[in-house]
Amino acid sequence: MKASQFTISTLKETPSDAEIASHQLLIKAGFIRKLASGIYSWMPMGLRVLRKIEHIVREEMNRSGAQEILMPVTQPGELWEESGRWQLYDEGLLLKFKDRHDRDFCFGPTHEEVVTDIARMELKSHKQLPVNFYQIQTKFRDETRPRFGVLRAREFIMKDAYSFHNTLDCLQSTFEQMHETYSRILTQMNLEFRAVDADSGSIGGSGSIEFHVLADSGEDLIAFSSDGTYAANIELAEAVAPETSESPLLPIKKVETPHQKTIADVVEYLQLPIESTIKTLLVEGSDTSLVALVVRGDHTLNPLKVEKLSTVRQPLTLASEADILAATGCTPGSIGPTTLDFPIIVDRAANALRNFTCGANENDYHLCNVNWSRDTPEFTVEDIRNVESGDLAPNASGTIEIRRGIEVGHIFQLGNKYSAPMKATVLDAEGKAQTMVMGCYGIGVSRLVGAAIEQYHDDRGIRWPTSIAPFQVVLIPINATKSEQVHKTAHQLYQQLLDAGIEVLLDDRDQMRPGVKFAEAELIGYPHRIVIGDRSLTNGEVEYVNRHTLENQAWPVAEVVAKLKSAVLGSPAVD
Ligand code: ATP
Ligand code: MG
Repeated sequence: MKASQFTISTLKETPSDAEIASHQLLIKAGFIRKLASGIYSWMPMGLRVLRKIEHIVREEMNRSGAQEILMPVTQPGELWEESGRWQLYDEGLLLKFKDRHDRDFCFGPTHEEVVTDIARMELKSHKQLPVNFYQIQTKFRDETRPRFGVLRAREFIMKDAYSFHNTLDCLQSTFEQMHETYSRILTQMNLEFRAVDADSGSIGGSGSIEFHVLADSGEDLIAFSSDGTYAANIELAEAVAPETSESPLLPIKKVETPHQKTIADVVEYLQLPIESTIKTLLVEGSDTSLVALVVRGDHTLNPLKVEKLSTVRQPLTLASEADILAATGCTPGSIGPTTLDFPIIVDRAANALRNFTCGANENDYHLCNVNWSRDTPEFTVEDIRNVESGDLAPNASGTIEIRRGIEVGHIFQLGNKYSAPMKATVLDAEGKAQTMVMGCYGIGVSRLVGAAIEQYHDDRGIRWPTSIAPFQVVLIPINATKSEQVHKTAHQLYQQLLDAGIEVLLDDRDQMRPGVKFAEAELIGYPHRIVIGDRSLTNGEVEYVNRHTLENQAWPVAEVVAKLKSAVLGSPAVD
């Protein structure tokens, strides 16, 4: 490709509404253009990257034995009524509309309903299973806060696959195969990632694993054990119980804490270690009007863990100040578990404390040296907090370390969540109808473009891994209009590189200064750059610059093709 015939639309300024590097760089380097909030066009340079990722994903899915299909983005509401998700799918994410006959439709945010409808029509016998259908398709989710460019868009591209099985064992084996396939895809893209245990969210089902690209800008927190055997999204990561304190029980003591509202205030005022205090939060209950949730003063509540408890009303709703006052006679800052007459759920770490401090259920007072059972009504112990770095990891696997990640893929064991309500059955060996067992597997193709940039950029711009770069090599001739030799060498190298199967951009725009071209090349992030100028050509050489190391070398013209071939087409990331 010649730059003179290719629309390169870089900007001088960093867009002010873009908060993180990938969003800023995708706009600044002219890869995407915004049409509306969370809705982007892919410009020629950006589309090349997107297609590269699609290609890697498609090859690996095909290698796994999955079959590509393409389902419509427009989906009839009736199918969603059948699965029970027309009203329930993550509040507001579903973009609904009507056709001219007043029939309900939505723009597909995911395709479980459509694929299950296909499966129930096309798959008749147990002998046809297992089957794994996939597509690479546009999705729409009316996200509450579209942000970070392509990382959280409203319209985006996903590879989604859906498998159908006779037995759970068979599902398990496809699930493991998809785990392996996703690892291969991300390895081919040269990304640093982790597979972590995850919550299944509104897609539902039992087991699920998320794939996270590690990046400080990630929205998710992931917890690993120091021995590397445990990894889970913090939403799900188990907080194990610390050993119960052995200190002797001290007599309870009531202390005055005037105007001390937060736990930080109380700790400062009473000069206590925060780990010896507890916080009591009141939420609405399912059978009782209120439920008390207790965590250690330095810990935070994990709402997803709490929502799974049957005593707590869903969605999790904090009690109003008026309800708290009516039930306890005090304001939220002075509550403690000692005299409450509704269910009390205590986190494992809070339960391990002795002689702790808590609110006295009386404004401006706290109690010190409180002890479970001796000073409190009955309670239950659950894991309801977020893990923290340094905590003990589950299964004696060391201590917890926490990093940020961008969720780029998610694989689920759905079981019969969709196949049962939608009556997707096949005939078993005895000729009886049996409900198919399903799995589903998503990878965010457009999100991966942004995630890769989050890992690969510096203050000059993007540093594409060669496997997904828009062009592998850029050739920049200097003063080609004046120097016949430069012009000729550049065009010869260009042709030789094309012949060698290397994706090369010849920057033949003659109106641009070399310095501007270099800065632009660094912004766009081609991994390999060759500069052809009269001065080095007198020695029969050109200048090579590596975008990752910014290293600069003189290469003999005659060796350029061979050297680039080995740099670009060298050993594959995955065999
Ligand atoms: P998130 O938790 O980030 O909202 P999700 O768990 O709702 O994502 P899934 O339903 O698991 O997403 O979708 C599969 C994949 O699709 C995700 O792992 C992600 O890579 C991609 N994806 C989901 N939502 C978006 C979005 N708004 N923009 C871009 N990609 C997305
Ligand atoms: Mg997910």
